[in-house]
Amino acid sequence: MSGSDCPCGSGRPFDDCCDPHLSGQTIPPTAEALMRSRYSAFATEQADYLLATWHPTTRPATLTLEPGLRWLGLKILSTEAGVRLIRRAG
Ligand SMILES: [Zn+2]
Repeated sequence: MSGSDCPCGSGRPFDDCCDPHLSGQTIPPTAEALMRSRYSAFATEQADYLLATWHPTTRPATLTLEPGLRWLGLKILSTEAGVRLIRRAG
């Protein structure tokens, strides 16, 4: 997906939006970024990321994504108190 628009609908390139989160290079800094990254994980069929970011009390033991499923888009209607909660050192 290099160079293409991010599936989350941010309008930013995938490489500069959700891909760094999906590949473990960065941690989503806000709840909205986490939600966007999880949407992109569904759209790019990355079950490992979905499981890793699922609350342990509700997470299934395994996750099988239906191959070729077409995700049409994510609309975020509003956010509240969307502050950066996690800041990486360096
Ligand atoms: Zn994104």
